Amino acid sequence: MPEMPLVIWIVFAGVLGLLVGSFLNVVILRLPERMAAAWEQEARDVLELEAEAPPMPPGIVREPSHCPQCKHRLSPLDNIPLFGWLLLRGRCRYCRAKISIQYPLVELLAGVLSAVIVWKFGPSWPALAGLTLTWFLIALSGIDFRTQLLPDQLTLPLLWLGMLLALISMFITAQTAILGAAIGYLSLWSVYWLFKLLTGKDGMGYGDFKLLAALGAWMGPSALLPIILLSSFIGALVGGSLMILRKRDSQIPMPFGPFIASAGWVWFVGGSCFLQWYLTLFSTHG
Ligand SMILES: [Zn+2]
Repeated sequence: MPEMPLVIWIVFAGVLGLLVGSFLNVVILRLPERMAAAWEQEARDVLELEAEAPPMPPGIVREPSHCPQCKHRLSPLDNIPLFGWLLLRGRCRYCRAKISIQYPLVELLAGVLSAVIVWKFGPSWPALAGLTLTWFLIALSGIDFRTQLLPDQLTLPLLWLGMLLALISMFITAQTAILGAAIGYLSLWSVYWLFKLLTGKDGMGYGDFKLLAALGAWMGPSALLPIILLSSFIGALVGGSLMILRKRDSQIPMPFGPFIASAGWVWFVGGSCFLQWYLTLFSTHG
């Protein structure tokens, strides 16, 4: 790596994050559409329906962006992450339809979190891995938030990637990663069944188990309890304020994935600092 001050790398990561963020917006929007269409196709095949199948929704990478309302193609200027939305003040240039605040929010989030990753790890391979983790977690959270789904197309590659990185012991050893993945899956799986037996309700989905398994593969079993505690805390905080603000019905299911994802990210970046602080607390008082 050429010698450059860290701050330049951080700014570079922030800009890269903004650009990736606008791609993540497309993934968040189109991946569930494509999944739904694929399911419908499968169902047609199983039921042996001969009727004309609906066309497949647009591809994720190759279709150009357009306004969801008037279908007008967006100019490169409108496509500039974050600033495009700000310049247009959140409305389509052609039909004045409101553009969801999801777009600038996801871009801003991806930009800021990417900058934090490079600030934490420096210009290095672990930073590159951390950026990948960050972008996967943002896409998963966005999709879960919109559709209450955590697609296998994202959770499973994230799990495999964590395992493969452990092969070269980037963050943890392979043994720790395998244990982390297995315990991560089984812990939420048992909570799910316990909750279901006690209340007869589904508290989470299998996607949540796979997401925690993936985080276990990246950070090992020791990270799982902090991640679960932190995600319950964030979930209670967000759920509570939503219920107060919007008088949201507590019966409406709330996606748990975004909370697991954000807790996982926080622990990935700050877990070691927290442990260090915790240990010093003990050594001074003990
Ligand atoms: Zn429009």
